[in-house]
Amino acid sequence: MSEETFNIDKNKTFSTWYDTILEKADLVDLRYDVKGFVIYKPWMMIPLREIARLFEVALEEKGHRPVLFPTVIPEKNLRKEKEHVKGFEPEVFWVTHGGKKKLEEKLALRPTSETAIYPMFRYWIQGYSDLPIKIYQNCSVFRFDTKATRALIRAREFHWIEAHDAFATEEEARKQVEEDMEITKKVLYEKLGIPFLFFERPPWDKFKGAVSTFAADALMPDGKVIQLPSTHLLGQNFAKVFNIRYLKKDGSYGYVYQTCYGPAYSRIFAALISIHGDNNGLIFPFEIAPIQVIIVPIFYNKKEFEIVVRKCEMIRDMLVRNGIRAEIDLTEKTPGAKYYFWEMKGVPIRIEIGTKEVEEHSCIVFRRDLRTRDKIDDSQLLASIKMIASDILENLRNRAEKFLQENIREVSDLAALKRVIEEKGGFVKILFCMREECADKIKEVCSAEVRGKILGSKDKVEGNCAVCGKKAREVVYVAKAY
Ligand SMILES: [Zn+2]
Repeated sequence: MSEETFNIDKNKTFSTWYDTILEKADLVDLRYDVKGFVIYKPWMMIPLREIARLFEVALEEKGHRPVLFPTVIPEKNLRKEKEHVKGFEPEVFWVTHGGKKKLEEKLALRPTSETAIYPMFRYWIQGYSDLPIKIYQNCSVFRFDTKATRALIRAREFHWIEAHDAFATEEEARKQVEEDMEITKKVLYEKLGIPFLFFERPPWDKFKGAVSTFAADALMPDGKVIQLPSTHLLGQNFAKVFNIRYLKKDGSYGYVYQTCYGPAYSRIFAALISIHGDNNGLIFPFEIAPIQVIIVPIFYNKKEFEIVVRKCEMIRDMLVRNGIRAEIDLTEKTPGAKYYFWEMKGVPIRIEIGTKEVEEHSCIVFRRDLRTRDKIDDSQLLASIKMIASDILENLRNRAEKFLQENIREVSDLAALKRVIEEKGGFVKILFCMREECADKIKEVCSAEVRGKILGSKDKVEGNCAVCGKKAREVVYVAKAY
């Protein structure tokens, strides 16, 4: 990319924007030649690792401990929970051979790890003092998704963290679901600036084998929603199937209550770049940016070069010493080409240094989100960068929150629902009877889904279902989803 600028209208042509930025910013390589499997390159891998780390830290703060289970699950374990296997079987990749020898028992590449982990809980949990168990693993899972794949959004291998917990009481399990929601808010909203709505999914859309499912939906620029972390109350369903019992204080045996939580950080990354990016390319929040500060030297001859680069190195070393990922662009491109390039790559802060800045003991500081430039004294530089970093996050979050709020609408009948979904997208609130056949009707007429009801919502349920006209039982949100 020379002087060429990245200039694609993100909101009008989101799909082009997305496909182009993945390639131009060198986030992934799609040439691996196995459908649904992609290579993550360093510019994606560094922020991805940071996102995963944010979740790991948040989980460990709440008492979770790391584990790593094998990638393969024996067929007999996968088949134990009837609902669960029905839900996942069409998507399982099977290992059938070891070398030339056919295996006696097929092995599934984990599509999710309940049936890998819970047979072991049976050994680990004997008495009440073994509870609670709170563990997580950071791994990849495999699903033979037959819908059209889209890099990072629908993939056949994706990367996530899955937490699995077991408790003595149902009350503790319910508290865990709330804790999972808090963790989601802490990472997604507070650290990454991604606003979302937390839904309780309708019964027909819950995780297979769960009592209930709660999930965070964020809004993409094209008006479709994307499911981010979900947390599931499993009740005693799996405990009964895998015989996970413990000896209670009173000498009797009881089954444990379980929950599981799965932030898929490769998908979160896709949502993050889509939501925060603009027509000039990516915008990374400071904390997770692969390069947080890029320094561009400006010079017109060899003598100037030496003076300017010396200052650039001093500034870079000072930033690196302070834990900031800073680099100097010493390529032979013009300053203008460098600006465009790093803007497209989403680097949150750029520092420009020429002979004037050397003389004046100052720097020009550019912030990517607002595309504004300010002169800052060298003595104030570190403090300013820290301030700008948190201000960028706040600005990105506010911008995204405004977009989300502007795209929540309300209608009272199916025709209006169809019109709003087609013309505007976003979330549409309706009064609903909570019958699956009405949800099917919405799918058929609007190609949209009932995402569920919002927990603790103050919406009044007065009136009739927008689809069938029978008495409404809930206010639900409808949207087209990825
Ligand atoms: Zn209805």
